Amino acid sequence: MRVFSDIGELRAALEALRRQSRTVGLVPTMGYLHAGHMELVARARVENDIVVASIFVNPLQFGANEDLSKYPRDIERDTAMLRQAGVNILFAPGVTDMYPKPMMTVVDVPEIGRELEGSVRPGHFAGVATVVCKLFNIVQPQRAYFGEKDYQQVVVVRRMVEDLALPVRIVPVPTVRDHDGLALSSRNVYLSAGERKAAVIVPQTLAEAERLVAAGLTDPAELEHLLKTFLHREPLANPEVVAVRDAATLKPVEVIRDLVVVALFVRIGTTRLLDNRVIGGQGVTKLGAAR
Ligand code: AMP
Repeated sequence: MRVFSDIGELRAALEALRRQSRTVGLVPTMGYLHAGHMELVARARVENDIVVASIFVNPLQFGANEDLSKYPRDIERDTAMLRQAGVNILFAPGVTDMYPKPMMTVVDVPEIGRELEGSVRPGHFAGVATVVCKLFNIVQPQRAYFGEKDYQQVVVVRRMVEDLALPVRIVPVPTVRDHDGLALSSRNVYLSAGERKAAVIVPQTLAEAERLVAAGLTDPAELEHLLKTFLHREPLANPEVVAVRDAATLKPVEVIRDLVVVALFVRIGTTRLLDNRVIGGQGVTKLGAAR
């Protein structure tokens, strides 16, 4: 595995590789890797000749009061994991490699990006879309891999790709979970032992949503209300977003008939946990099917 921090050097290496190989798959991450990230890598390995992983904690997508400076990092461990997994190239730029000048250009999908997580993290998805667009331009992959755990991110990135006719296919990968159902996340290390136990309320709430809809509940407002009540069973849980939305557009729905996504953004202590589940529509649960 070759490691680059400089955009020009990475481009030159990719140029040479492209002459011999056909397809490049990109796995963008913020590092502090876990089995969820590695699932994206494994999928990229199967589907591409060359796999590029990136590690960049992107300041543009963090709000002023968020965890940018204390976001967990372990580049040595991450590098070893990616090498072991057969990644060909790691792109790990510093902030000045990625943004040598203050960014004046913004890529935004505001109508989708201000919903759900965006409603409590203003500007977050513009930061995501901008960095992802820049990574696509640098690496020029045929395919890029994103976790369904960040469901809204996939919807935003797909729409950006469509609107701007970017020549890349977005491949969503199902969420990898811990033994008790908690979605793996780099931020889970922030949780104390007690908070970690309490965090199971998040996947449990999604299971409850599935159960209620299977039992015939069709009113999204009632479902949201019942799920908030369910979440409050856990005193450490502070729900910031509990929303039932159209799975493809993320717009509110009047009645639960087709596929909906139940999106949760829950604070446990000071840690924000994100999770979702697609339900309804005769049991089809894949993001791919929601398009
Ligand atoms: P992050 O490093 O948190 O920005 O995540 C990088 C990529 O890994 C994103 O596309 C995430 O959606 C994906 N990812 C994070 N956690 C998981 C998980 N538990 N299962 C699958 N993919 C994940």
